[in-house]
Amino acid sequence: MTMTEPAPAKAERWTAQWKELYEEVIDTGLCTGCAGCVVTCPHEVIGYKHEEKGYKPFHLEEELGLDNCIHGEKGCTTCTRACPRFRAWEPDADMHLFGKLREPEQMFGQYRQLLLVRASEDLVHKSGQDGGFVSAMLIWLIENNYIDAALTSYLEGDGSSWKAVPGLARNRDDVLRGAGSRYTYSANTLAFKQAQEQGLNRLALVGMSCQSSVPPVMWARKAGKVSKGFLFNIGLLCSKTFDDAIFEELFWAKYGLKKEDMVKMNIKGVFQIWMKDGSYHEIDLKECHAWTREGCKTCPDFSAEHADISTGGIGEDNDWTLCVVRTPLGEEVMKRMEAVGAVTTRPAEGDATAMKLLKLLSTVSRRRWPSGAHPAPVVGVPPPKKKTDAAPAPASE
Ligand SMILES: Cc1cc2nc3c(=O)[nH]c(=O)nc-3n(C[C@H](O)[C@H](O)[C@H](O)COP(=O)(O)OP(=O)(O)OC[C@H]3O[C@@H](n4cnc5c(N)ncnc54)[C@H](O)[C@@H]3O)c2cc1C
Ligand code: SF4
Ligand code: SF4
Repeated sequence: MTMTEPAPAKAERWTAQWKELYEEVIDTGLCTGCAGCVVTCPHEVIGYKHEEKGYKPFHLEEELGLDNCIHGEKGCTTCTRACPRFRAWEPDADMHLFGKLREPEQMFGQYRQLLLVRASEDLVHKSGQDGGFVSAMLIWLIENNYIDAALTSYLEGDGSSWKAVPGLARNRDDVLRGAGSRYTYSANTLAFKQAQEQGLNRLALVGMSCQSSVPPVMWARKAGKVSKGFLFNIGLLCSKTFDDAIFEELFWAKYGLKKEDMVKMNIKGVFQIWMKDGSYHEIDLKECHAWTREGCKTCPDFSAEHADISTGGIGEDNDWTLCVVRTPLGEEVMKRMEAVGAVTTRPAEGDATAMKLLKLLSTVSRRRWPSGAHPAPVVGVPPPKKKTDAAPAPASE
């Protein structure tokens, strides 16, 4: 550098702490409850209740009030570095993962391949919600010693409460026990604490879109050692989750369907419920909207745009998983699994229904992002045209 050349601009120092997180994300309703801030806090002063009326972080120390943090005042900034709704989270994660920003027309984010995938093994396929791909991938990663465990979700106790809870999957049986979808919230990131206690350091995260942006945002903003444990990031397409109260207040109160007697549920345009006595019930999604979880109402990410592979059940065939393969790592895993016959794949572009829904539902979710927040998630989002296009996002698959 000569004396006349200007010095390169220094990156601005990151000073935002819990105070800013509280003001800009929690108090404004942007918080999804992903628990990224909870698991990264090095001082363990962020609490979280994984239950109805909870699913939000709160400060455990009251010295400075619940909206400020004494460690933050002394320079700790970890929570804002981990939050995938804080300021420029979308560009930060995009640049880190892909080295470029999403193009305005890329409603479902950046990707390398669109595939329909199913687990080759019958039991895994049958246990899965759609094609059983997520379970097949977790089993393959564990059995080939790529990971020690996956942070995933289970049903509490014997399953009759239908309460979704985060947990660790360390082997094939664990993975199959957690297979399938529950439509209430499970902050799978919270299982990180169990992994730490058990000395497990090589992890895969399975999570809805809000959770799958946690690792890339942490990596991009250098959130510290917690971020290093996340080796694989598997996303679940998602337009909403429901309050736990939906079981009592709608399914039981109006339809007489006891959760203890439910055996399976799915969302395919309607809420589908299968009961122990063999009966099958459909509930109009419009009726369910009143139980949409608060944290989902401003969420702009349907497609889990920052996962290595995002997975969903939209398409012409119910028993295949739609996979949006986004990163070189995701592509490599898919290729290796295919090579050893763990999964069967075919191109998804030919499935017109899946392609249309993926774009439409991603667009509709982006429209929920409020105008006062960082504008990146709504770049390129067209205004609603027709009535169907403008309707609130259905959790349809
Ligand atoms: C709340 C929710 C909403 C969804 N909404 C859509 C949608 O609108 N459109 C769409 O196409 N796809 C949606 N999906 C994804 C879809 O239901 C399947 O999870 C996906 O296609 C993968 O299917 P699979 O057979 O490969 O997965 P499986 O092999 O069945 O594995 C599913 C994995 O998801 C985990 N999981 C289940 N429930 C939860 C939960 N509540 N929270 C966190 N993790 C969980 C399981 O523990 C398991 O690891 C949603 C999933 C969830 C959980
Ligand atoms: S969005 Fe996630 S990381 Fe951000 S404040 Fe909420 S729980 Fe914490
Ligand atoms: S809509 Fe889905 S991805 Fe978005 S905050 Fe809710 S659970 Fe998370």
